[in-house]
Amino acid sequence: MSTDIFMYQEIAQKKFDALKHKRDVVILGIETSCDETAAALVLNGRRLLSNVISSQIELHRKFGGVVPEVASRNHTLAINAVVNEALAKAGIRAQDLDAIAVTYGAGLAGALLVGVSYAKAMAYALGLPLIRVNHIEAHICANFIRASEELGVRSEGRRTCQRAGTPDAEHKNNGLAQTIPSAIPNSSLLTPNSSSLPTSSFLLPTSFPIPHSPSPIPPFLAVAASGGHTGIIEVRDYHDYRLIGGTVDDAIGEAFDKVARLLSLPYPGGPEIDRLSKLGKPVINFYKHSKGVDKDLRLSYSGLKTAVVNYINTAKMKGEVINVPDVCASFTRQAVDLLVDTAVYAAKERGYDTIVLAGGVAANGYLRERLDGLASAGRRPTNEELGIRSEELRIDFGKSITPHSSLLIPHFKIFYPPPVLCTDNAAMVASRAYFSILAGEDLADLHLNAESGLQIKGEKLG
Ligand code: ADP
Ligand code: MG
Repeated sequence: MSTDIFMYQEIAQKKFDALKHKRDVVILGIETSCDETAAALVLNGRRLLSNVISSQIELHRKFGGVVPEVASRNHTLAINAVVNEALAKAGIRAQDLDAIAVTYGAGLAGALLVGVSYAKAMAYALGLPLIRVNHIEAHICANFIRASEELGVRSEGRRTCQRAGTPDAEHKNNGLAQTIPSAIPNSSLLTPNSSSLPTSSFLLPTSFPIPHSPSPIPPFLAVAASGGHTGIIEVRDYHDYRLIGGTVDDAIGEAFDKVARLLSLPYPGGPEIDRLSKLGKPVINFYKHSKGVDKDLRLSYSGLKTAVVNYINTAKMKGEVINVPDVCASFTRQAVDLLVDTAVYAAKERGYDTIVLAGGVAANGYLRERLDGLASAGRRPTNEELGIRSEELRIDFGKSITPHSSLLIPHFKIFYPPPVLCTDNAAMVASRAYFSILAGEDLADLHLNAESGLQIKGEKLG
């Protein structure tokens, strides 16, 4: 190891240890695990200072799914501009950051490597601690993020088709230019039929209603439901995550995407199925053999997916018209009910009164409806509770409830992030890293590598 690298690690370790006692900690998060290049600045794990997401969705749409090689090449093109934009929007110079956090797994190896390499170079150049972040744990931390208006920070965003590789003049170099080279010049090799950064790479809106309500406090039960993962996780503390259940085959988001493809709906299929299912009725029972909730908290989506495939193929063979909205509504109901029923069973079994959603599928309308139903259905408080914990009681003036029984304690407290923080973003990465700082763990060195199969530690599934 060269002396320089050795010195860097010593400096990074000292700074990392000191951060535990610092009042205000600003972390730059970097996320490139799949098809979103994202950077965000977050104060103390909760206050969003900026949130920039350059999505490749349009680019991958023509292939019907993410092409790993194309994803990593486009991350390379976008990352420098995305990080600079995040710094500019927060009005913070790179050298004034306290730490850099990066997703190192799970995800596509080549895509992860772009973020990891960039973050390592930046941390080394600036002498900042580098914190490694588990993508799924980060998704859960999206629930801790709150608005930053009170800090006088702009949080409005633009939805433009501005190319992520050509940031406008307002983006100062933030001191990075001296240390980190600009994005690699555009090359026709990098994207299928484009000689520049794909026009499909656009910056997603960053203005969104961030909840001002209180955020969840561990211990709680988290349900991570995304394109690559479906897990039930005990969050025992801000830094203690335990996988207790999940899918043994397809992820729920993957099932949404596959069913959508079968129906010739554009990628990603989840939002499309969500939209169409509101126009249909859940009248088709695809999966008559569903065993319901598994007591070992094992979920399976490949059987449901195959059942939908068989239904559609049979209908096509018979020349029957397929009612797409009904298929969407029925599939959504069966997929989501299995997840919710399993989560509720797990929460009851393990004594949790709070369920926290995370991941792209957490944006699903029916899933939120079902969980909101659980949050509003309550029980009458006991006298003891009335006396001792009256400030926690929920007053519900719902029509079906008589005034006498209107003072209810919900069975569950339910939390989910705003939609733009459900799918991949870097704010959640910065948030997760803050809790690592407090725990004094996850400081990475310059040997940090991508781990595409990274898991949350836990009980073995299968
Ligand atoms: P990953 O972390 O695995 O890359 P994300 O967290 O970015 O995945 O989530 C993307 C997944 O979420 C996709 O499978 C997409 O179809 C699904 N998704 C996004 N919005 C919705 C929705 N409203 N309903 C159902 N699924 C959705
Ligand atoms: Mg994700």
